Amino acid sequence: MISAQPIILRFAPSPSGYLHLGHAYSALFSATQAQKLKARLLLRIEDIDTTRCRKSFEDAIYEDLRWLGIKWEEPVRIQSQHMNDYKKALDQLDEQHLLYPCFCTRKEIQAEIKQSGKAPHGPDGLIYPGTCKKIPLGQRQEKIDQGHPYALRLDMKKSIELTGPLYWRDVSAGQIKATPEDFGDVVLARKDIATSYHLAVTVDDALQEVNYITRGKDLFEATHIHRLLQALLVLPVPTWHHHNLIYDDTGTRLAKRHNALALRELRERGQNPKQVTAMAGFKNWSP
Ligand code: GLU
Repeated sequence: MISAQPIILRFAPSPSGYLHLGHAYSALFSATQAQKLKARLLLRIEDIDTTRCRKSFEDAIYEDLRWLGIKWEEPVRIQSQHMNDYKKALDQLDEQHLLYPCFCTRKEIQAEIKQSGKAPHGPDGLIYPGTCKKIPLGQRQEKIDQGHPYALRLDMKKSIELTGPLYWRDVSAGQIKATPEDFGDVVLARKDIATSYHLAVTVDDALQEVNYITRGKDLFEATHIHRLLQALLVLPVPTWHHHNLIYDDTGTRLAKRHNALALRELRERGQNPKQVTAMAGFKNWSP
């Protein structure tokens, strides 16, 4: 008998602050979907940005999730311990001549855009004008040898030509045509960190065999890039389920930088897990 492939979900917070009600919503969404689908639930700590992430926040994530009654499968994948996996993916893209070093500073990019008189925007902000793509190969190497810091960008045009049209499926939105071109030449390895969110998340979901990605609608657009990277790196294609976001009384989306209600603050104020899960919109949650 052929056994059906297990469904694997994950919750993937960044330890750059304490979890707040928005995270509770996302974690509970993943946990309830896992219950419904009889799926496995994994946890991943997205800590590649070592300037913003802290071990104390990571420990607080485990504590807060346990307090909410959320259980996950061990081991937890900690991104900063897997830089070699991202390096391998970059090498794979480099072998296909899809990457180029970008030495530009933010200021230089802005100046170049200003000079061109056009300022095309993508979902992530201004689209990179492609300045460094024009640097001849020999000069690129020279600059690298001289120690100029550089990011690695994906040659979007070449990548799309290689893959042809791509599609992905979101449980709520249905079949979507991928439009990664809207982002321009995205950074896949930052100057200060040898990977990026887009690359690390795509590689990890494949390595962890996540086939049902639950995450907020704020990351809906990013999926266009992830779908492209999957095609270029020959990785399996999951299903996505982008969930709604929760907003505060003023209509602002809850985020760490907005001092959103931290779960531990609610706890200190005497709220119990049942009350907090209800506040997050999961009145009937039971672990
Ligand atoms: N680490 C991301 C965040 O905390 C989530 C990444 C993802 O689910 O793809 O917003």
